[in-house]
Amino acid sequence: MGGGLGDEGPRGSEYTELLKPEGPIVFAGEHLSYLGLWQEGSALSAQHALKLVQSMASERAGKAAAA
Ligand SMILES: Cc1cc2nc3c(=O)[nH]c(=O)nc-3n(C[C@H](O)[C@H](O)[C@H](O)COP(=O)(O)OP(=O)(O)OC[C@H]3O[C@@H](n4cnc5c(N)ncnc54)[C@H](O)[C@@H]3O)c2cc1C
Repeated sequence: MGGGLGDEGPRGSEYTELLKPEGPIVFAGEHLSYLGLWQEGSALSAQHALKLVQSMASERAGKAAAA
């Protein structure tokens, strides 16, 4: 799977739905990685969440500048 959360493994594509933010709230944790039960999974998930927050902030700043 793309996005740096490890191999997709047996979890299936619908799992990516769980990775989407809920409005401004971004989720992270080993349970949201493909390396469940390991610290590496939580670190990868945190990295993914931070990238998402960064892109959401950039998008918001772009909209504010355009307004
Ligand atoms: C006994 C044991 C041994 C382990 N050994 C290893 C190992 O050797 N190597 C390895 O890689 N992994 C190991 N793990 C797994 C590793 O600990 C976890 O994968 C990792 O800690 C998950 O990190 P996380 O940030 O996703 O979740 P967590 O570390 O569980 O952090 C979640 C945090 O959220 C807090 N929280 C929960 N609900 C709320 C709420 N409503 N409001 C505010 N805060 C909340 C919790 O108190 C907790 O601090 C082990 C796990 C256990 C239990």
